[in-house]
Amino acid sequence: MTLLVVGSVAFDAVSSPRGKVDRMLGGSATYFSVAASYFTPVQVVGVVGDDFGEEHHSVFTERKIGTEGLERVPGKTFFWSGEYNADMNERTTLDTQLNVFASFQPKLPPHYRKSPYLFLGNIDPELQSLVQGQMEAPTLIAGDTMNFWIEGKRAELEKMLRGLHAVIINDSEARQFSGEYNLLKAARAIRALGPSTVVIKRGDNGATMFREKEVFCAPALPLEEIFDPTGAGDSFAGGFMGYLASRGAAAQGSEENDFRRAMIYGSVMGSFTVEKFGLERLRQLSREQIDARFQQFQRLVQVD
Ligand code: AMP
Repeated sequence: MTLLVVGSVAFDAVSSPRGKVDRMLGGSATYFSVAASYFTPVQVVGVVGDDFGEEHHSVFTERKIGTEGLERVPGKTFFWSGEYNADMNERTTLDTQLNVFASFQPKLPPHYRKSPYLFLGNIDPELQSLVQGQMEAPTLIAGDTMNFWIEGKRAELEKMLRGLHAVIINDSEARQFSGEYNLLKAARAIRALGPSTVVIKRGDNGATMFREKEVFCAPALPLEEIFDPTGAGDSFAGGFMGYLASRGAAAQGSEENDFRRAMIYGSVMGSFTVEKFGLERLRQLSREQIDARFQQFQRLVQVD
């Protein structure tokens, strides 16, 4: 089942207590697609500049991710820079340069429009809506956003959220968007807009899923060393959506257990990403390692 993702493809500069990297491949669509590619065929839609080389392109092709929708235009690729201190759940954005994203108008190749699964990664909500509107008969559309857009494009964001089946969002952003500190209330406010599933990511406190009849909590794997949390949220979303697409799950009427397992696969992919800088760890996995870690997660919460 094909999974389409639109989002940022970026160069990131990251500093954390474990080190510093001045320029590496990142972006919401990149983390998402690499994570999801272990579960289902993925196609990426985005834009890069002429500083995007073959070594960057190969990160997608080595995972057999379709790049027909990855436009290359003159200019510089999106750039983001962030810093983490001891509390890795908190990050400071030092710089955001939209560059080629500033004039991007995503246009889906005709066969991409038939894709049953779509993830709208964190980019300008107007662009997210533009892609949403081009889909022919989507089974499940999920999306993410961040403070940058909640502050800058609130009305456009609300419009986009109304067209989603599932929202996968950070706790701080769920609170900021809804004005509710309590996460049950925040999730209810977001569900009231239309999405039947709301997943709230809480960094190393795990993630919680809110659906009509249930609340499900996935833990985060206790790790001694976290190198770089960047992309953990997108990798979570990639594991979550990738697994659901591999099961052919729909927003409603599917097995609740598929959604629960998707929560654990999301947590598994996020836990790998933070173990090294950038995409280094995520790129090198096997399905066996992923399934072994899935079982490790199951043992974390199993009781008789
Ligand atoms: P996360 O999974 O939330 O840690 O996402 C990290 C990725 O989001 C980084 O690789 C950045 O390149 C990308 N990013 C940061 N800010 C933005 C933004 N305003 N729009 C789109 N992508 C962004």
